[in-house]
Parts: sequence; structure tokens; C-alpha cells
Amino acid sequence: MPAHPIRLYDTRTRSIQEVQPVEPDTVKLYLCGMTVYDHCHVGHARAMMVYDALVRYLRHRRWNVQFARNITDIDDKIITKAKAEGVEPLELAQRYIDSFHEDMEALGTVPPDFEPRVSETLDGIRDMIGALIERGHAYVADGTVWFDVRSDADYGSLSGRTLDGLQSADPEGGKRFSADFALWKAAKPGEPSWPSPWGPGRPGWHIECSAMAVDTLGKTIDIHGGGLDLVFPHHENEIAQSECATGCRFSNIWMHNGLLTVGSGAKGGGRSHREAEGSDEDQVDAKMGKSKGNAFVIRNALELVPAEAVRLYYLQTHYRSPLPWNDDALLESLAMLARLYEAREQALSFGGEEDADNVARSLGTDAMKVLELGRSFRDRFYAAMDEDFNTSAALGLAFELARAINRLGNHKKAKKRAGPVVGPAIGALTLLPETLGLLTMSGEDFQEEVRTKRLKATGVARESVEQLLADRQAARESKDWAQADALRDQLDQLGVIVMDTPTGPTWKVRLE
Ligand SMILES: [Zn+2]
Repeated sequence: MPAHPIRLYDTRTRSIQEVQPVEPDTVKLYLCGMTVYDHCHVGHARAMMVYDALVRYLRHRRWNVQFARNITDIDDKIITKAKAEGVEPLELAQRYIDSFHEDMEALGTVPPDFEPRVSETLDGIRDMIGALIERGHAYVADGTVWFDVRSDADYGSLSGRTLDGLQSADPEGGKRFSADFALWKAAKPGEPSWPSPWGPGRPGWHIECSAMAVDTLGKTIDIHGGGLDLVFPHHENEIAQSECATGCRFSNIWMHNGLLTVGSGAKGGGRSHREAEGSDEDQVDAKMGKSKGNAFVIRNALELVPAEAVRLYYLQTHYRSPLPWNDDALLESLAMLARLYEAREQALSFGGEEDADNVARSLGTDAMKVLELGRSFRDRFYAAMDEDFNTSAALGLAFELARAINRLGNHKKAKKRAGPVVGPAIGALTLLPETLGLLTMSGEDFQEEVRTKRLKATGVARESVEQLLADRQAARESKDWAQADALRDQLDQLGVIVMDTPTGPTWKVRLE
């Protein structure tokens, strides 16, 4: 069966385009990855999560996906930090590569098929620079190689900038034109360098991604992804280098995720690598650093809530929209996620074996609604996702279904008879683990993870909760209702909700 058509917004043409791959049924996707000089924070993780869900969804829709996500392990920030710590730059980089891999595994992301590193792509980088010089698109000045933007008639096509707008009075460092950018930087004393035909040095800002994309996926790729902050200059320069060096179109679609917004709307996050010089990242980091509990570092966020709550935080908003970040964001997402789990648990608890349509008619409008939403879910979910990857609308359908199931649960005959009515809904909800990595756990495992993480985060000892629960049970057994109620109140103050069920009491942590 052929792959199903998908449409995505393309920044270069400023329109939604059908993905029309170079090779039938195969999507070649390149994502600008991390510059590894620190732990991954919630801004970086948005891109990781958006493209993880994209890979999952494309595969679900029967595309073969070749997914490359690079690691920038040669960079000014790495060199500066390594110097300060007295370690080798590549050693420092490896520390944060390991940290990044741990975070990605904890978030449940699909590993990329290719994970090239700059330090391992020097040959490809030098080859591409050589081709650019040969084709008259680059020139050498004092051991530094510059890309000549005026040699590229298409320069500015992605960002919409013009050469006039980019010209400044006084080009520096041997450049012929102010917007020319370095492909190869001549070595500076005390910095790591590699040999090249133009003298020792290291790759410039943007050439790595052009070289790594060609190395791993070929001259033309289908989708190039990254944060919106990378459009200029990084992606503009990638296009210029790649297309001038190979003579081929570099990427058919340029897909950009929006950034996190912090506090009063300052730009934040999404700066997955190669941040603009003099960028506002430091300011953003400072703002995020002030967030209580340092939840802005992914590994800290994962101590506060289950990984799926972090995933939901990113995927509940359309990937192109700005995403507000605040101290409550993850808890809000966790509460939303818990509603999905609870609705599924509720649906799974319904019994009965009658014909679905008959029992829905006899139970009334709430049941009819659940049956109808369950049956139409898959088509509506695909329609949202196929049109510019609208995870927000797709999740909206899941929440609509969850609300309808919960309403049906209030019906006194639902427990015994509504099983067949929720059958299509239960089937439909399997799309969430398959395509978005949500609802992957059993209801009990999810509740247990929530209990463990939230008690720890709020500083409540599990043993004291269990002692109070046991005391309350003992009070109930000796019919000391006043004492049982007092203990329930104490538990409530700790944020623990006790629910008495026919099989005995259970408990959960209050989330909203
Ligand atoms: Zn890149």
C-alpha cells in the first residue's frame, strides 16, 4: 500500500505544500540538532519532540523515513566552556552528548537513523568548501574561507531578506561584503584546529549541516526542520552553500517550529544549535533559570512529571505557534494527560455484550455521542494531522472523546451495558501511542508514576501517606468514622485523594 499524502507548511514558499519525495514512499528528514555545551532545556526539547512525533506519524502513514539529526560538537561555546573547566572541548562535548541521549531516551523519542557529528564530518565539510571555491562561490582571505553571497542569485529566498538590507558600511576580517559568512575559520592560538588546503582551522557556522545532510541523506532532501530562530542566518546559509556546491535543490520543504515564550512574551527556547551571535538566548536562559525548581532543564522537568506530560505540553499546541512556558505548564499538561488516562480506564471498565447501536439508543444521547465520536475519530484525527501536522486539533479530538466518555460514565447503566458503545473509542485511542507517544502505559503504571514523582516533588514521604491510609482503614474497620474522616482530611492536606471502591480504597495525587 502506498504512503498516504501529507501536507506541510513550507517556509520558503510561504505556503502549505504536499510532501513529494525524491524517492517514492521515502521521506528524507534532516533536523538541526543540539550544540552540546550544556544540558538540554525545555526550549531545545520542543524541536526534538515535534520532529519525533512527525517521524512517528509519517511511519504510521506508511512512509519510510530516513531521519538525520546532527550533533554540533565543535563550537565557540563548547571551546569557551571547556577552557574554563580545563578539559578538552571534545571531552566536554561528549559529556553533554551522553546527557542529551539520556534525556531523549527518557522522553521516549525515536532514535535518529543518522546522528552525524561535526568532528566526524571534516572530510565532507572540506570537500564542500573546495567545491564552492571551484565554482566561484567562495574565496580565501588569510586562511579563512568566505562564502560570497553576491554570487548566489537566490540568496535571501528563505528569509525574504535582500542583499541591500544586509549590507553594512564596513565589512570586517577580509570579507568582500558584509553578509558574506565564514565556511572555514583560520586557527586561533589555543583553539582546536584541523588541517585544510587553506591552512589549519575549523568549520564555520553553517557548513556542517549542509555537509552532514549530503553525507547522510544525499544532495536533495524532502524536509529540513529546525526552530524558527534558525531561518536566518543558519538555514538561509545552508541553502546557499548546498545549492551552490551541488547545483541541486537542497530541501523540498523547510519546516520550522515556533519558539517557547517566557514570562512577558520574550522569545525563548528552540535555539537548538548555532545560535545567532549576540542572541537573546542568554537572556532567555537567565529568565528560565529563575523559574522555580529549574524545571527548564529537561532532566529536572522529568523528575516533576511523567515524560508523557512533557510530550503533551509540546504537542498540545500547533508546532508553528509560539508555546508559552511558565512554572505551571507541566502540571497543567499532567492534569490533562490524567484525564485521558482516566477516560480510557473508565471505558475499559464498561461491560455488556449487546449490539452497539441498540444499546447506545437505549442509553441515550451521551452514549450515541461516544459511539459516533469513536467511529469517526480515526478519519478526523488523520485529517488534522495530514494538513500541516496539526497535533493540537488531533489532541482536541481526543479530549472531546474523553469528556464524552466521562459523561457517559455518569449514566447509572453505563458500567454494565456501555462496553460495546465505547469499543470504537478504545480502538481509536490506540492512535495516540502509535503516533504521538501518549497513553503508552497501563492506567495503573501511569498512576504509580504520578504518585511517585508528585509526592517526591512536593516533599511528602510515601511512608507517611501509606501509614495514614492504613490507619484510616483500621479506623473504618472498627467503625470509628470520625477518626476515619479526620485521617482522610489529613491525607487531603497532603494532596492525596482517597477513593473507596468495592475492592477496597485506592488513592491518587491531586493534580488540579
Ligand atoms: Zn543546522
